[in-house]
Amino acid sequence: MAEPGAYRCVECSGGAEELYRDYQRGVLRIALCKSCQKPVDKYIEYDPVIILINAILCKAQAYRHILFNTKINIHGKLCVFCLLCEAYLRWLQLQDSSQNTDPDDLIRYAKEWDFYRMFGIASLEQTSFLVGIFIALWWMRPEMLKTKSDFILLLKALLLSGYGKLLLIPAVIWEHDYTPLCLVFIKVFVLTSNSQAIRVTLNLNRMLSWLAIVFGLILENGVVCLVQKIGWDV
Ligand SMILES: [Zn+2]
Repeated sequence: MAEPGAYRCVECSGGAEELYRDYQRGVLRIALCKSCQKPVDKYIEYDPVIILINAILCKAQAYRHILFNTKINIHGKLCVFCLLCEAYLRWLQLQDSSQNTDPDDLIRYAKEWDFYRMFGIASLEQTSFLVGIFIALWWMRPEMLKTKSDFILLLKALLLSGYGKLLLIPAVIWEHDYTPLCLVFIKVFVLTSNSQAIRVTLNLNRMLSWLAIVFGLILENGVVCLVQKIGWDV
């Protein structure tokens, strides 16, 4: 388990006081982990593009670097932007299904309202997915989500790891025969990075983090069915 410390080792997730030591006159030395004797965070020397590639490859070390040893604070904005992408995709599909070319003002307002409605439904589904994950984790490992900071760290990790949804926009703009397949790949990629984020944040094994994802999906689909039953999606 991690010792109290400001940072975490990217290899073993042990606590660390510092990432490097400054010996003055431009001499810096990367700190070594007390538990595994490897560099605490090799990524502080790496180019951001390399770190991003490592994150896309779902490497646990890169996830630890981003979540524990940097002060990235874009999860809120990223989440809203991803929801906007998803709302746009659904809104487009809705337009395709109801062909109406009448340039009437009333129809324009109705279309605008449709977009807000799609945004609302996408937010509701995203929230139920996250709630499902939290319920599953709290049920499987109640000791891991004891404090508010554990909860916030996991929420931040889950929101950040949903960055794959940004790919929805290029997939829709350059539409072709394989777009439905691309959407499936994007979904699988987002779920894989969500699972990796849970694994890294709580030090869980792969199976438990996937179980939490499955539970989140079940709850999300429950909400989708409910929305369809009420008739909000048409
Ligand atoms: Zn270590």
